[in-house]
Amino acid sequence: MAAKEAAIGQPALEFIVVEAAAIPMPPPWHEETVREGDNLSLIFSRAGFSERDVYEVSRTDGGRGLRKIYPGQTIAFRTGTHGELHKVKHTESKLKWTVFTRDGNDFKSSVTQRSPELRQESAILRIQSSLFLAGQRAGLSNRVIMGLADVFGGVIDFALDPRVGDTIELVYEAQWLDGEKYADGAIVAAAFTNRGTTFDAFRYTDSQGDMSYYNGEGVSMRKAFLKAPLDFTRVSSNFNPNRLHPIYKTKRPHRGTDYAAPRGTPVYAAGDGRILEAGYTRANGNYVFIQHGENYKTHYLHLHKRKVKQGQRVTQGEIIGTVGSTGAATGPHLHYEFLVKGVHQNPRRVHKSLPKAKSLPESEMARFKSTVQAPSQQLAVLYQDNRLAMGQQTTGSSGGE
Ligand SMILES: [Zn+2]
Repeated sequence: MAAKEAAIGQPALEFIVVEAAAIPMPPPWHEETVREGDNLSLIFSRAGFSERDVYEVSRTDGGRGLRKIYPGQTIAFRTGTHGELHKVKHTESKLKWTVFTRDGNDFKSSVTQRSPELRQESAILRIQSSLFLAGQRAGLSNRVIMGLADVFGGVIDFALDPRVGDTIELVYEAQWLDGEKYADGAIVAAAFTNRGTTFDAFRYTDSQGDMSYYNGEGVSMRKAFLKAPLDFTRVSSNFNPNRLHPIYKTKRPHRGTDYAAPRGTPVYAAGDGRILEAGYTRANGNYVFIQHGENYKTHYLHLHKRKVKQGQRVTQGEIIGTVGSTGAATGPHLHYEFLVKGVHQNPRRVHKSLPKAKSLPESEMARFKSTVQAPSQQLAVLYQDNRLAMGQQTTGSSGGE
């Protein structure tokens, strides 16, 4: 028995030794990172290769991709036994790379594309000063925070509406790769409770394949007008729009909303429309007026820069200018007005009288209801968790009050 075992073991051992000696160590990859202003010739020459190599690789099927290189990507090189260029690896991201391998005077390419694993994550937020800070405290990426602003932008003015004690619960997708979080993805469902009123939003892809957000009743979250027509993350929270007019020192009738924000903060078109006027006057400074359909107009005053021309079409959220202090303004702020049939309305209240947002057709409702059932239950649980956490925080920090 023992002899037989040894006989079997012997050749196997020899086999391993022979095989190991026969495989030479492949030369290491030499990696170059694509820099600002780079092109293939510069990168190949930094790595010690010629224009001819550039030509041979980039004429390969799939070599076209190499003409679109972006800073931060890498291009790696491996030489053959005679020092000739043998392989080139273009890594676009952790999810996609292309390897070009020499085949005579040509190269053959092979693309590797990985898809990250999607996992659902959840978070609860309590607003103490701003959505942005609350999101950061909860460990959310900017992408998710901006996603929230996008989903609720038609119903919440994130610059002026949030109050201490407001809460947000959300379920979102995260992309994982090799057991590590790669990136945050889209919001699946979210609830925002602003001064006691809860708005919820659910992602839904209809039978036509169009993805959008709807409330629990299937009404679109995308409204005709944004509630705050500027990058809310930069608006000062302790701004009092009812102050005495800084220049005239009187409490003038104020026909709009003021958003104090640093010079250069992007200002957005509140809704789809056409630029009625884009100009300058001593009072308005640089200003833009937008006509939306027949009945609505929005005005944006004291801009630092105008980014649109009269007659131009704009879509909701498009940048039309930047916050400034031109004209009769002491400090940088956006003065925003909303007119219905030529009459000034309070932009903060006008939304109640605007046309209703689109609802899902009856034919989608059964599918919609079953799609949102699970996320809706998740939100309900998170809502309870958030109340519980708030209760504990209050008892913990308020002492004898
Ligand atoms: Zn004003």
